[in-house]
Amino acid sequence: MTNEELWRAALGELEIAVSKASFATWFKDTSIMDLNNGVVTIAVPNPFVKEWLELKYHKLILKAVLGLIPGIRSIEYCTTRNAPGARPVKMRWAPEEQLEFNDFRINPETNLNPKYTFGSFIVGSFNEVACAASLAVTEKLGNLYNPLFIYGGVGLGKTHLLQAIGNKVKSERPELKVKYVSSEKFTNELVSSIQNKEPHIFKEKYRQEDLLLIDDVQFIAGKTKTQEEFFHTFNALYEANKQIVFTSDKPPKAIQHLEERLKSRFEGGMIADVTEPEYESRLAILKTKIESKNIDVSPEVMEYIALTVKESIRELEGALNLVHAKMTMIKRQPTVEEVKEELLKTAKPKKTVTANQIIKVVADYYDIEEKLLFEKTRRKEIVSPRQIAMYLLREDFNGSFPFIGQKFGGRDHTTAIHAYEKINKSLNKDEKTVEDLKQIREKIHGP
Ligand code: ADP
Ligand code: MG
Repeated sequence: MTNEELWRAALGELEIAVSKASFATWFKDTSIMDLNNGVVTIAVPNPFVKEWLELKYHKLILKAVLGLIPGIRSIEYCTTRNAPGARPVKMRWAPEEQLEFNDFRINPETNLNPKYTFGSFIVGSFNEVACAASLAVTEKLGNLYNPLFIYGGVGLGKTHLLQAIGNKVKSERPELKVKYVSSEKFTNELVSSIQNKEPHIFKEKYRQEDLLLIDDVQFIAGKTKTQEEFFHTFNALYEANKQIVFTSDKPPKAIQHLEERLKSRFEGGMIADVTEPEYESRLAILKTKIESKNIDVSPEVMEYIALTVKESIRELEGALNLVHAKMTMIKRQPTVEEVKEELLKTAKPKKTVTANQIIKVVADYYDIEEKLLFEKTRRKEIVSPRQIAMYLLREDFNGSFPFIGQKFGGRDHTTAIHAYEKINKSLNKDEKTVEDLKQIREKIHGP
């Protein structure tokens, strides 16, 4: 493995372990400068990043690198912009010392991360049903809600809740067998057991568990053979009275390409959702997290973050980390303006889309063949999607009208203008067009 490959693999691990915002902020422009005698030297763009990596992410980085090259003794950080001749200040840690911190110590038997507990889970109207159901499950394993199915968008606390169930049960009743598993891992194991012609071993293995926690179960959609085996495994567990908890990004009904009988199994117990926290909850979450980090953030900044960072709790945490970082750098509380600037810097870059991608999404959305959009047909079911596609090429792709006309089977630019104006007008009076465009845009640009 070259240094570059090693670092790329390590970054892959780190990306999963930290929030998106933190990852973008702290790991951008880093590389392995040297690997010698078990000492890895990581090049970082500036002293500030260096300090932050040393302070906050050292143990994670060490763990990621150790997982790839077990012989590593220590890690050093070195800024790439050192004045010529200046010796970079290097710090050393021994691995044993660092790995003692237990917040990243995932229990190998249960796969649980001890940091996800009910104690650190903030409850508000946006998640109280899911939280109450989860707590109830820990009291009456296998007997009350089985399965419990928790669903909701990204970064809203599903994994946290799922693991909190496991951690609580394990701490109160250590004799019970608890296992947390991502549905990808579960599926991979299942597939290899089928390939090895021993699905019974897989079934037996999981049947031993008293509490099985399966995260992101939507990933089994579309995998026919897996679903079949999954169904039998589920039944075996269920009949043995084992508690199962699932999470998913959508309710069972909305998971496409999922067998009916699995859907009805998932729906057979209790379904609870976690939704986006409203402003007051976002503020409460920020306050709690700020207290637990023991930092001082002005009320204006807190309010600003709570107002603008709405998507998820993970994003809130990321924003808070940025503020914290800024504070460390400027050695005082940042102003709202400064925070705004920081948040803008890490705002998700808009994905650049191509004209063909837009056209493909539109065709998929209306379930028509792409080539029909380019043909001369005037069938209504084609004309309207074609106009939508033209509109989007203008609005979201900045295509010129002659380009758009050309793109759609060599039509005149006036046709493109006409289509654009037609859709523009119907946006004011036709709800279906508004909704269609919203959905299509989500498919093009992501939610
Ligand atoms: P999901 O699995 O829904 O994508 P996670 O459970 O990974 O989301 O949550 C993302 C981050 O937000 C985690 O760091 C988690 O600890 C935190 N978090 C989510 N919900 C809450 C909550 N209600 N209280 C405190 N922290 C939360
Ligand atoms: Mg999750």
